[in-house]
Amino acid sequence: MIEGALEVVGARAALTYFGALGPAGLSHGYLFTGPAGVGKKTFARALAQSLLCETPKSTLLGYCNACAGCRLFRAGTHPDFVASEGEVAIGQNAGSAQHDEDLTARDLVRELSLHGYRSAYRVVLLGDVEFSSPAAANALLKFFEEPPKGVVVLLTSSASGTLLPTIRSRFVEIGFAPLGTSEVESVLRAGGVDATRARLAAEASFGSITRARAVLEGADEGIRGAAFAWFADAMSGRAPDRSFLQLDDRSLNASEKRAAVAEMIEIVRIAARDWAALGVGADVPLLAPDQRELLSRIPQRPPAAAAALLAAIAETTKLAETNVSAGLVVDYLRMQLG
Ligand SMILES: [Zn+2]
Repeated sequence: MIEGALEVVGARAALTYFGALGPAGLSHGYLFTGPAGVGKKTFARALAQSLLCETPKSTLLGYCNACAGCRLFRAGTHPDFVASEGEVAIGQNAGSAQHDEDLTARDLVRELSLHGYRSAYRVVLLGDVEFSSPAAANALLKFFEEPPKGVVVLLTSSASGTLLPTIRSRFVEIGFAPLGTSEVESVLRAGGVDATRARLAAEASFGSITRARAVLEGADEGIRGAAFAWFADAMSGRAPDRSFLQLDDRSLNASEKRAAVAEMIEIVRIAARDWAALGVGADVPLLAPDQRELLSRIPQRPPAAAAALLAAIAETTKLAETNVSAGLVVDYLRMQLG
């Protein structure tokens, strides 16, 4: 039986790939790329559980949720599953990392070198992986020249442009696409959200389940409200306040700052889209109706200029996926608006 986690995520390419794969075709490394919140980590965990499930199956994907392997996996105590949740920076030497929880390249290679304790596979999942130096990445590269049998490394990244080409070339890369609004809506509905709230959250989600849930919980209100205010100031020729992004906070790593800026750009896209819709004057439903008053105070521009602005913001999304620093991305975005 395939559990829901394999079905709900925006993983058509991954489902097609792994659905057609037998154990002999399994690679030692996969890189799942795509925007944040489209199910890369959810799918990676489901794949890991599939590999560690001890019930015989005809396909690679799928797990029983009842065997000892599945029970250990769900309890978070499977000896052959190593996962790093959230953002991971992999440093070169012990003590060089900014955060205590950061893995060193040496830790990682040691984990990878162990054979499976109870399973034929040993699965290592590194979510939102980022290497703090080329040397750290190279330590992993050396390992991949001759990986132990049964080791499968799963990386996820929403900024794959920051990974070295030499790393990327050693992994099978599979793209995850943003979900359609109706897909987000049905995932929320399946989770017990009522129809009206599910539709509104899905419309504000830009294809991300994570963002849709944040909208429902009001959890992103801090960055959301601040990003709308930033947009209104930048568009009106005032100096926008970007302190909410905490780009000068040295306790945050580059990956965390990049994630905050990526979130901000998505909100700015919503803001710009609604501002342009107000300029058309028709009864276009707004994605963020609560921001109508703020957005309607921003001076309108000729339709061609508004269209060019929307395109420029979309380009900034791509820039944010490269290794250009978060601060420069924000500066670039502001230039597009001003
Ligand atoms: Zn099982």
